[in-house]
Amino acid sequence: MLSNRAKNIKPSPTLAIDSKAKAMKASGVDVISFGVGEPDFDTPENIKEAAIKAIRDGFTKYTAVGGIDKLKDAIIEKFQKDNALSYKREEILVSCGAKHSLYNIMQALLGPGDEAIIPSPYWVSYPEQVMLAGAEPVYVRTFEKDSFRLEPEALREHITPRTKALILNSPSNPTGLTYDRRSLEAIAELAIKNNFYIISDEIYEKLLYDGTEHLSIASIGEEIKQRAIVVNGVSKAYAMTGWRIGYAAGPAQLIKAMTSIQSQSTSNPTSIAQMAALEALKGPQDSVGSMLAEFGKRRKALVEGLNSIPGMRCPMPTGAFYAFPNTKALYGKSPEIGSSSKLAMYLLEKANVALVPGDAFGDDDFIRLSYATSIKDIERGLGRIREALARF
Ligand code: PMP
Ligand code: GLU
Repeated sequence: MLSNRAKNIKPSPTLAIDSKAKAMKASGVDVISFGVGEPDFDTPENIKEAAIKAIRDGFTKYTAVGGIDKLKDAIIEKFQKDNALSYKREEILVSCGAKHSLYNIMQALLGPGDEAIIPSPYWVSYPEQVMLAGAEPVYVRTFEKDSFRLEPEALREHITPRTKALILNSPSNPTGLTYDRRSLEAIAELAIKNNFYIISDEIYEKLLYDGTEHLSIASIGEEIKQRAIVVNGVSKAYAMTGWRIGYAAGPAQLIKAMTSIQSQSTSNPTSIAQMAALEALKGPQDSVGSMLAEFGKRRKALVEGLNSIPGMRCPMPTGAFYAFPNTKALYGKSPEIGSSSKLAMYLLEKANVALVPGDAFGDDDFIRLSYATSIKDIERGLGRIREALARF
């Protein structure tokens, strides 16, 4: 009955683990969730008020497919202010979450015969979205010793005449890596020379620690800007995961095609959520800073705690809200915890702690824990993990 496309697609493992943890919680189990990457903070009050006002004002009808002009202008201002990037309205598309922006890009840019290079470990949806477009993901392994940076030499080795795009994610989910200017310049040079596009997922831009600065690869120069599509959104920075607003900026021709695809699938993103996103971008920004300060404390508590557990080794991430410890040393201790999936399942069942196995991100040597959860739960969760692993 099913199309080949449907037969081959895997459900999002991060969302699947979240559903499982939520179902366990609903049935009365005290699960501590380090699973899904979702801020536990409430959406700031001013943003909620803007949405309520939109409902009261009757702003509840279809809007322009690609988003209302006011929101596009706020996004243009954001790019100018934060990234020194100048875009016009026809170079912006607002979609139903950054995931949807990425989906539209893959559909508009990639097709059978094309290859998209994905540094691994990668965020779970990139390969699936590339395959849904009929193209082929080409993985380039990155290593803990290089802080999971994509090395230009490794990238060069994977470029072929069919390479159409490279998917870059800085700050990165799941590794917490942020790219510096030198690495981005080397990658940009290869993209220009070999004529491929860069899909730059910058959704964690606002979540940076220890003075790390964000640099958008598109801002390196005019030539790379013409080959870059920047993706961002309000989910992570403003605790707005449920509102579903993301956006993309790139060459007008591509944005136009993406808008046509969107016009035949979802139409506009929710009118009310667009007004909320407008307030998020234009209103007071202090909640971003206070959430970040809290994430910073949690990051330290989680990473230090993980490093004190025998068999785990966890570098300090510089961005996003994920710890990505190497757990390979544990796998040899018992078949029960003999891989990242087995370890994650064991911890869920025996310790009631939910986390994501590294194999979901293309690297079985690791597990991912989101620290978008309270310090209290981080401490309780660490205690449970330590205790559950002590018997090995
Ligand atoms: N990119 C990355 C790397 C992510 O972790 C997420 C989180 N879901 C997204 C894109 C999509 O975010 P959203 O669709 O909620 O805007
Ligand atoms: N990006 C988040 C994560 O990696 C949310 C889940 C998802 O969209 O897949 O956990």
